[in-house]
Amino acid sequence: MHGNAKVLPWFLENVVGSNTDECIVSPHAAEGNLYPRALIDGKRVRMNRYACELRNGPAPYPGMYACHTCDVRQCVNPRHLYWGTHAQNMKDKAVAGSRQSGETHSGSKLTWAIVDEIRAKHEGGRSTRSLAFEYSIAISGAWKICNHKAWRHRETGGVT
Ligand SMILES: [Zn+2]
Repeated sequence: MHGNAKVLPWFLENVVGSNTDECIVSPHAAEGNLYPRALIDGKRVRMNRYACELRNGPAPYPGMYACHTCDVRQCVNPRHLYWGTHAQNMKDKAVAGSRQSGETHSGSKLTWAIVDEIRAKHEGGRSTRSLAFEYSIAISGAWKICNHKAWRHRETGGVT
């Protein structure tokens, strides 16, 4: 389907023609540019989307995201890409972010039952760090819960 596409030679050689299972990061991916683009048929296309399409065909639904199975957002190895929803994409980023910083950023899956459990374990001597890992939440989030800086008001559902 892309037989006639005029693609950046780098992309053709290193992505289309690759067999590696290692991450492929474009040398054109400038620092901070998370979505390197490839010139394809004169259009600037996100390399990760194009690479995903090579492997998996076009996105099954409009608005789907090229998600990574690896943690490297700039990676354009087609073997590391799959079509996912916005939610999956955000989850990917959260996981990737957590591996980089040691933290996750989502507190949305917490409930009062879990918050009470975390506080009880903390009062029983558990560290906020170990609780953060156990419940897959940010260490700062666990600290806030244990110190009642977050999830203070039951009537607001924990939104403070
Ligand atoms: Zn990768």
